Amino acid sequence: MSIELSKIVQSMEPSATLAMSGKAKELKAKGETVYDLSLGEPDFGTPKHICDAAVAAIAAGHTRYTVASGIPELKKAVVANYKDRWGLEYDPTQCVISNGAKHALHNSFFCTLNPGDEVIVPAPCWVSYTALIKLCGAVPVVLQTKESDDFKLTADDFRAAITPKTRMLLLCNPSNPTGNLYSKEELKALADIVVEKDLFVIADEIYENLIYGDHRFTSFPTVRDGLQDRTILVNGVSKTYAMTGWRIGWTIAPAAVSKKMGSLQSQETSNPCSISQYAALAAITGDQSCVKTMLVEFEKRRNYVADRIRNIPGLSCAEMGGAFYAFVNIKEHLGRKYGGKQIDTSEQWCLELLAQKKVATVMGSAFGTEGYFRASFATSMENLKESFDRIADFLK
Ligand code: PMP
Ligand code: GLU
Repeated sequence: MSIELSKIVQSMEPSATLAMSGKAKELKAKGETVYDLSLGEPDFGTPKHICDAAVAAIAAGHTRYTVASGIPELKKAVVANYKDRWGLEYDPTQCVISNGAKHALHNSFFCTLNPGDEVIVPAPCWVSYTALIKLCGAVPVVLQTKESDDFKLTADDFRAAITPKTRMLLLCNPSNPTGNLYSKEELKALADIVVEKDLFVIADEIYENLIYGDHRFTSFPTVRDGLQDRTILVNGVSKTYAMTGWRIGWTIAPAAVSKKMGSLQSQETSNPCSISQYAALAAITGDQSCVKTMLVEFEKRRNYVADRIRNIPGLSCAEMGGAFYAFVNIKEHLGRKYGGKQIDTSEQWCLELLAQKKVATVMGSAFGTEGYFRASFATSMENLKESFDRIADFLK
């Protein structure tokens, strides 16, 4: 008799971003040259002083289990950072250090949602939100935003989507995959509804340090009183410090929620890697010039990508205020033949682009919005240039 899968995992798909990057890696392993814009992962090495701190942590014997919810020094540094930047006061016990922000999101959903609860997820949305919500038996209510609203959830649309089962709003700001940023006023309009309807919010602010041009980031709980008690902040070091492989993220949540998350973690995973926690501590408390250096480079790439998209007939893209993604409208290029092959969906388009031109991107449908592809510009200028030359050629 074969082992039966649980009902809850039967419909679970692998992460589409990781699946596309996996396809690119497979081709590379076969000796093909692949131009990979699939993954949102900085191509920079982790800054040296952070790596040195990890080596020092090993030498100092920080190689054992830590407190399941993370080392107190790191929690203290994380909350001090929110106080310094946003004036938000939290107790270090409200912070839980996890194995990346993805794990922090899982903890957040698992500790707050009951089966049947609805979570409003503005789309286009990052690929893992809906899967993680469904794993709790809760219901992601994917709400399409409009390109004409810069893909931002409006207060009217939010209000109209609320039902008696709505518990939570998920806000990803700056957004993966569109790079849009909410203004303080826009956040305030959403926050007023959150308070009026007695909801709570998961604010995924993992791209908060990657902001371009005149754009300004506002942390959600700062926009009015009464939000700290109904917001779970999610963040981490992966994107800001080029530390994707170290697996450190965190939540800052109301004390009772954090306590349970710590218990959940103690049962499920124990502590996140002890060495990575010391590295993350060095990242947060150390010299921040590395962040600026990487940001300058990302901004050059963002400007280059925006320019390329503007100059390829039939492609368009909303202004990227933050993060490192372009969400590119290809509607004019669907419903036609490519090399004799009919292409109607963004998935077919991305797979064919990979097959014919060896450029890896992610289909808009994976983010809940058809008619687009996502290109990550967390990669070298050479890679971007060759990729967009090939995309232009593909569209001819
Ligand atoms: N949130 C968003 C919006 C992301 O793009 C990512 C990317 N991986 C994560 C959370 C998770 O980040 P990590 O687990 O690497 O900390
Ligand atoms: N968040 C990144 C992305 O969207 C990394 C992959 C993932 O975790 O989904 O590409």
